[in-house]
Amino acid sequence: MAVPGGDVVVIGGGATGLSAAWWLAREGLRVVVLERGLVGWEASGRNGGGCTHPFSPLFREEQRLWPQMDDLLGHPTEWRPNRIVMADTESELAEMEADCRAAARDGFHAEMLTPQQLHELVPIAGPDKAGGAFWHFGGHANPQRTVQAYAWAIQALGGRIVQHTDVTGFELSGGRVTAVVSAAGTFGCDAVVVAAGPQTGVLAGWLGVHLPVTPARAEIIVTEPLPLMAHGGINSTELYGRQTLRGNLVYGGGPHEWLPPADLGRDRPTTPLVRNLAKRLARMFPGAAHARVLRHWAGVIENTPDGRPVIERLPEPDNAVVATMSSVGFGLSPATGHAICDLVLRGRCDFADLRSLRLARFANLPADWRERRGWVPPDGTGTA
Ligand SMILES: Cc1cc2nc3c(=O)[nH]c(=O)nc-3n(C[C@H](O)[C@H](O)[C@H](O)COP(=O)(O)OP(=O)(O)OC[C@H]3O[C@@H](n4cnc5c(N)ncnc54)[C@H](O)[C@@H]3O)c2cc1C
Repeated sequence: MAVPGGDVVVIGGGATGLSAAWWLAREGLRVVVLERGLVGWEASGRNGGGCTHPFSPLFREEQRLWPQMDDLLGHPTEWRPNRIVMADTESELAEMEADCRAAARDGFHAEMLTPQQLHELVPIAGPDKAGGAFWHFGGHANPQRTVQAYAWAIQALGGRIVQHTDVTGFELSGGRVTAVVSAAGTFGCDAVVVAAGPQTGVLAGWLGVHLPVTPARAEIIVTEPLPLMAHGGINSTELYGRQTLRGNLVYGGGPHEWLPPADLGRDRPTTPLVRNLAKRLARMFPGAAHARVLRHWAGVIENTPDGRPVIERLPEPDNAVVATMSSVGFGLSPATGHAICDLVLRGRCDFADLRSLRLARFANLPADWRERRGWVPPDGTGTA
């Protein structure tokens, strides 16, 4: 579809679009990223930094790439390996044992932790946990560092990033996208990648394709720095996050606040949820209950009906790839960009089976899927 030296326009300067642009630039294509705000300003710069997605077809590639990303990009991502998951109850512990067995079947090593072992690894967790698991896979990275690293790496390869540039339409001819229309002018292209997060559905609609995705707001809090623990990636069953290299705890985790599909700008933090998050973090880490919350922010998560990404080169226009990641896009981004690059260049991904991520799975989706799942704002403004 596109050949080295060809022009590819990537719409969206989040982790997905930036990674795709970086892989494409490495292949010798001329890439331009069009971003309506700043790179990483949306979910990609606001997330929990988790890089552990064992249920994705891109998991192996995610695990293969992260340890190399600092070297490949030439800039630090603050990636750190491994993950600790903590259980408060015996039934949570039983689920973790099942997860460890599943990981072993897939060739990944994980081991159960006694309450004492957990307490030694995570002193702030307190002595009352039921136990936990140590995953010798997965990891976490700094989202802001990572998007910046992608952006610098793209530019070092000659790629262009045009910020504050809203894409407003496409020019099509002969079943192909020939140009992308934006506030900064019209960009001719041999191929286009639409990686616009929750807005991917709107842009896909302009290409004549129904891509169901709906936005929800989620919050993150950051505490003051605490003494560094041996492993900074620690989850409970309800909260996820990491300890930064400076010692801050950066944590998020439910509930989703559903937004109307057309209203993606309401990403301001809300005091009641922040307080709720802080309370739950203090329960998760009693030894850190005294730590003050320094910062908090909200981000908009893109959600498909089955919670799995959509990554597909469209049958028509056949030079367009669409990608929206349904809440797992940061950690998977190195692998997603690689997959998109393969789809742009060869029309297929050779290292992972992406059939389960195609749009065809939504062929019989009822029009009121949001309402059926209760994924609408309390005031009901999210109706399809
Ligand atoms: C609070 C929170 C915690 C999370 N935790 C994790 C985690 O721990 N691990 C994980 O893997 N994922 C996590 N996620 C999800 C993850 O952040 C997203 O899946 C991922 O960032 C999606 O990246 P993206 O590039 O596809 O989309 P986005 O980051 O949304 O980027 C899309 C970009 O497209 C731009 N755009 C949209 N429309 C247009 C247009 N018309 N013209 C030009 N530009 C346009 C937007 O401005 C935006 O910058 C979390 C998300 C949130 C909000």
